[in-house]
Amino acid sequence: MHEGTGFTPVQAVAGDGRAAQGFSTRAIHAGQEPDPLTGAVVPPIYATSTFKQDGVGGLRGGYEYSRSGNPTRTALETCLAAVEGGTRGFAFASGLAAEDTVLRSLLAPGDHVVIPNDAYGGTFRLFDKVALPWGVRYTAASITDVAAVEAAMDSDTKMVWIETPTNPLLNIADIERLADLAHRRGALVVVDNTFASPYLQQPLSLGADIVVHSTTKYIGGHSDVVGGAVVVDDDDLAEAIAFHHNSMGAVAGPFDAFLTLRGVKTLGVRMDRHCDNAEAIAEFLAGHAKVAEVRYPGLSTHPGHDVAGKQMKRYGGMIAFRHKDGEQAAVDVCARTEVFTLGESLGGVESLIEHPGRMTHASAAGSALEVPGDLVRLSVGIEDADDLLADLRQALG
Ligand SMILES: *Cc1c(COP(=O)(O)O)cnc(C)c1O
Repeated sequence: MHEGTGFTPVQAVAGDGRAAQGFSTRAIHAGQEPDPLTGAVVPPIYATSTFKQDGVGGLRGGYEYSRSGNPTRTALETCLAAVEGGTRGFAFASGLAAEDTVLRSLLAPGDHVVIPNDAYGGTFRLFDKVALPWGVRYTAASITDVAAVEAAMDSDTKMVWIETPTNPLLNIADIERLADLAHRRGALVVVDNTFASPYLQQPLSLGADIVVHSTTKYIGGHSDVVGGAVVVDDDDLAEAIAFHHNSMGAVAGPFDAFLTLRGVKTLGVRMDRHCDNAEAIAEFLAGHAKVAEVRYPGLSTHPGHDVAGKQMKRYGGMIAFRHKDGEQAAVDVCARTEVFTLGESLGGVESLIEHPGRMTHASAAGSALEVPGDLVRLSVGIEDADDLLADLRQALG
């Protein structure tokens, strides 16, 4: 850890005096002690690539070069570790950079990984087009089904990659049961916690070894920054990730770290509003004549409802639904909304709508991860619920 910067790590671990602090208190204070020099309440943006040394090797605050460490990034990394209940956090240039660094740190050619058969499109592309040519094999399995994951494992399986809820179908994987299975077989468990956010779900406490995030989404929360994170609670894993974080260099810059940290502070209040709005919309869609199926884990009809209730605080802000009249009708709905903006990404304060088959998941066409053509995905924002409902009502016709 970097001492003497003022940003003393506040860790959410047992034995720490502050371990009992609530989520939002940690989000607002962990890693963010007022600046000892000026009293600045917000960690400054340290826009510097290098740090003066007092004699060779004489580092004032533990910093020497900003790829290896930067105080603004340390503040964010400390906070991310605290809100995920981990001991070390790492901030990356993007979610995929975080994922790539996890793969390079912990796998080698010859290893095998089980991934969700409805993984985020970019995650699938990373395994299929980058890791596979490097020599890491994968099997895509239905991770809602523990037996299917077990059947997909072989003697080289070193990692089980989980997304829950999944993108875009909002399937729910039982983290605790999959972690038990993976650990019995000597494999690590990675959870992409982007959709839930640490406010709704804490995979490390459920037995996962590594949490990854696209902080671009709920953690940043304002659609104004691209970033990624890795959080662990094991020293050996932390050391491996730290080495590759610095060696591969896909780090978050200080401006991006500042914006992301600004977002984290309000994660709790934003998530509650995302959930309130999504619950209202899911119920509205479930009763709409043009909607064939609603995928929202908060609905009692969702196959993962009970598991979600066990491992999540609430059910999140993402909804997918299938249009009764098929693909063109689904595409038309996306074009007709006015408050929901047509666009990729998710997790921001503004509501977004998209057609996964032709947009976020186009690269999965023809693969095991292909999504239904009549599917529409909503990232429900924190606008007024009545305006969102009215917009969907007019767009569905
Ligand atoms: C967006 C996303 C990613 C990739 O993150 P980037 O920040 O876009 O690189 C990974 N996983 C999930 C679930 C995502 O939604």
